[in-house]
Amino acid sequence: MRREPLLFERSESANSGWYRADGDMPDTPPEELLPSRYLRRERAALPEVSELEVVRHFTRLSQLNFCIDTHFYPLGSCTMKYNPKVNEKAAQLPGLTQMHPFAPESASQGSLQLLNELQQLLCEICGMSAFSLHAAAGAQGELAGILIARAYHQSRGETRRQIVIPDTAHGTNPASAHLGGYQVVTVKSNARGRTDLSALREAVTDQTALFMLTNPNTLGLFEDDIIEIAEIVHERGALLYLDGANLNALVGVVRPGDLGFDILHLNTHKTFSTPHGGGGPGAGPVGVAAHLAQYLPGWVVERSEDVFRLKRPERSIGLLRAFFGSVGVLVRAYSYIRALGAEGLRRNTEGAVISANYLRILLSSVFRLYVDEPCMHECVLSALAQKKRGARALDVGKRLLDYGFHPPTTYFPLIVEEALMVEPTESETKETLDAFVQALQAIDAEINSNPEVVQTSPHSMPVGRLDEVRAAREPILKWTPQMSISGARNTASVG
Ligand SMILES: *Cc1c(COP(=O)(O)O)cnc(C)c1O
Repeated sequence: MRREPLLFERSESANSGWYRADGDMPDTPPEELLPSRYLRRERAALPEVSELEVVRHFTRLSQLNFCIDTHFYPLGSCTMKYNPKVNEKAAQLPGLTQMHPFAPESASQGSLQLLNELQQLLCEICGMSAFSLHAAAGAQGELAGILIARAYHQSRGETRRQIVIPDTAHGTNPASAHLGGYQVVTVKSNARGRTDLSALREAVTDQTALFMLTNPNTLGLFEDDIIEIAEIVHERGALLYLDGANLNALVGVVRPGDLGFDILHLNTHKTFSTPHGGGGPGAGPVGVAAHLAQYLPGWVVERSEDVFRLKRPERSIGLLRAFFGSVGVLVRAYSYIRALGAEGLRRNTEGAVISANYLRILLSSVFRLYVDEPCMHECVLSALAQKKRGARALDVGKRLLDYGFHPPTTYFPLIVEEALMVEPTESETKETLDAFVQALQAIDAEINSNPEVVQTSPHSMPVGRLDEVRAAREPILKWTPQMSISGARNTASVG
């Protein structure tokens, strides 16, 4: 295992990476500046290291990462597409980075115009009537959507207690429904991997607040009964929610508003090429049809004549977080959309779908397809036959790391045994896709010739198999000077 010591462990007293010029700090003794109860009694245990050591430490850490800038990353449902560097350039413009959320509107017209235009662009792409950019991620957008549905039903004097969700849904859907105070009713999928209409007719009643659907669904399949689904849901007075995580298969081709969706969230880190960052800062814009615009969370940016203003929607469900969203992330999404334009966005969608189908056909010689039909932007395979020969989906995924590829999503959707969910995105060349297929063919051959090499992989990574259960149950998130060196080593390897 390649181990990078913590800066604390590297510390040598009297090393220093900073310099204080005369006059940088006041000569006044600290006691006169701050009440004594706020002053330290002992020196802070900060690492004492040189600037070069800091630079090398963080550069080495960054090289331990498996990331989209170094490797193919076909993690299904996550849309790990290339994040164009022009986005970074836009997000670093001083007029944007130096803006304070409390700056008066007159001093922030440029930022507000950008946010207003992004709202308009998302409305146009999705066929919705209004957008709030406030939520921090897809999951928070889901909660916002659920609270909007609740406020809407309450305004009509109705208390509906249930949310209907397909059995293929992402775990955040039922989690958000519970958080919003609803009971979850699950509908099963049919043999084609789509919502079973007769099961849906039974599940949706006058107690249903919302039907939450992902389209294309998490099997990478377009819900082609969507018009009928919308009718079933609306006939019973319920609302139709789109989990927009898979919008990368629709942009520029199909608009969710035209399919009958009342509310949706987007994930800018999936569809609009902003960084996926360990739970945030992110953005999960929420879009609604006209009759729900007054319930949107946070602020929306309105335009009257040539002046841009922040406005709280009339019956807003309130704030989910501080201020008006992760503006730096929204700038990147705006930059992506403007750089590509309508034609470029559509081409990317087509590229994502063609790449997934190319992999689906080539990989079906190795793995069983869950549904043997054309897919949208991702395809779901099963490693059940490989498991019978000694290597599970997990082992195949880990072994791929040795071949220089990030594993696909495994064991999701839950209804597929030994699932491998592959999403290539539009970013990759045919050569990369071919190399990926060859790697999986080679691993499949290894399962016959030398299963142990697959079962004990990865062999070339900085760490081998982690104790994921222990890491989740007993996370050690903070290093303290009392930790023994060996304790610290364990911390670093688990973390
Ligand atoms: C990623 C994802 C989510 C959750 O979105 P976050 O932005 O990660 O909170 C919800 N549903 C589906 C289908 C997803 O792929």
